[in-house]
Amino acid sequence: MPEREKILHKAKLNNNCPVCYTTEGLELSFTQHITEDRFFERANPLLGEKLYCHTCQGQIFPVNWTEDIERVYEYHKKRASPQSHYMKVKPLFYGVILVGIAAIAAIVYFALVR
Ligand SMILES: [Zn+2]
Repeated sequence: MPEREKILHKAKLNNNCPVCYTTEGLELSFTQHITEDRFFERANPLLGEKLYCHTCQGQIFPVNWTEDIERVYEYHKKRASPQSHYMKVKPLFYGVILVGIAAIAAIVYFALVR
């Protein structure tokens, strides 16, 4: 089943990167996984989080985070509220049902007319 990531919240941080020490590269993002097939779309309740440095072009893993980064992370985490586990029906689902109803109506109509 195809999966995509939906970005819930994204923030540039002014903290020093623990790897390259610049203050302009860090970006924190919170994501949610969405699985979808032709008829339905489901949201995974688990939140994905990633700290990326654009200067050294790599992900900074929590083991390397400084206290400052952790503080900022906690702050932003509160602002990223995941959509609760949901399941959405896509328009195609209704389309298929409508076509089905139309087909049955047509069969009934022709059966009665004869
Ligand atoms: Zn860096």
